[in-house]
Amino acid sequence: MSSAKKILVTGGAGFLGSHLCDRLIAQGHQVVCLDSFFTGSERNLAGLTGNPAFTLMRHDVVDPVRIEGLDEIYNLACPASPVHYQYDPIHTMKTSVLGALNMLELARATGAKVFQASTSEVYGDPAVHPQPESYWGNVNSIGIRSCYDEGKRAAETLFFDYQRAHKLRIKVVRIFNTYGPRMAADDGRVVSNFIVQALRGEDLTVYGDGSQTRSFCYADDLVEGFMRLMNSDDGVVGPVNMGNPGEFTMIELTERVLRLTGSKSKLVYMPLPQDDPRQRQPDIARAKALLGWEPVVELEQGLECTIAYFRAVLGS
Ligand code: NAD
Ligand code: UDP
Repeated sequence: MSSAKKILVTGGAGFLGSHLCDRLIAQGHQVVCLDSFFTGSERNLAGLTGNPAFTLMRHDVVDPVRIEGLDEIYNLACPASPVHYQYDPIHTMKTSVLGALNMLELARATGAKVFQASTSEVYGDPAVHPQPESYWGNVNSIGIRSCYDEGKRAAETLFFDYQRAHKLRIKVVRIFNTYGPRMAADDGRVVSNFIVQALRGEDLTVYGDGSQTRSFCYADDLVEGFMRLMNSDDGVVGPVNMGNPGEFTMIELTERVLRLTGSKSKLVYMPLPQDDPRQRQPDIARAKALLGWEPVVELEQGLECTIAYFRAVLGS
């Protein structure tokens, strides 16, 4: 295929990164997946192993790297679950900031277009609802989530400074809670926790009173949005919110998971973690206007696919 590109995906062995690698390979591109395997797994890449268009590099984005001839870089490397990003918060901050810096330098050296996986966490515990990209956020700079939130905010700053200083072609997406097959069973985020607990017949762990809200996007929808943003005109740099505007309380999520799994699990209430945002819902008007993108998979349908995946993984 004449338009085939050489594309680097950092964090490509993770949940979202592996779906992205699959899509890019299916389109005929050459993909280099770079991952430290902190939360990622080779199992996620099983369908790509041995494919001559696919290369796997074990590397930590904290350290500089040289790869020749790149056309595009998707920078996804970073643990996304609070449990994992709080495990070594200093390394999380390094991953966000030095990882962004190293990928920007690589883009500068190769002339590649560079994409940053930012997050709705840049809005912190939002005082504006739903959150448009123009909202500057409400983030605690010294709390237990700060390594991730402030790291991702600093990464955005670096992307925009490199664009102004070096005329780099950048793309920044702010991802809202996304779920689907290939989340790790021990990922710790709410959708995988509830499904795994329900399938194992364990209590569903509701943090706080479960009235906090999140908006859940299915992985396939998000990856489609990633590629639309990467392939958009150079003038479209973002930040662009991507997520599903459907908003649910955690109690509503338990009800759906219990119904769809047929589980008899009970709820157990646990303390709400520090700085846990009360509500979150993306305003996706910008993504719709610039990219013609909006999610098409309803929560119910996405949960069914995710439950089927975990049934296979857990053998239940
Ligand atoms: P994930 O934990 O499944 O994947 C992250 C991948 O990055 C893993 O393969 C991990 O091994 C790798 N990684 C972590 N630190 C690294 C390092 N220092 N060097 C190299 N590789 C490293 O998480 P995910 O949900 O697939 O998230 C992917 C990206 O999307 C992350 O940048 C995350 O911040 C962002 N994001 C995800 C969501 C979501 O809901 N899934 C929401 C907001 C932002
Ligand atoms: N949560 C929960 N039980 C769990 C895991 C998470 O009630 O087993 C809650 C968590 O406190 C938060 C919401 O679910 O309010 C989403 O948490 P997650 O870790 O998935 O993502 P984030 O907080 O980063 O949006």
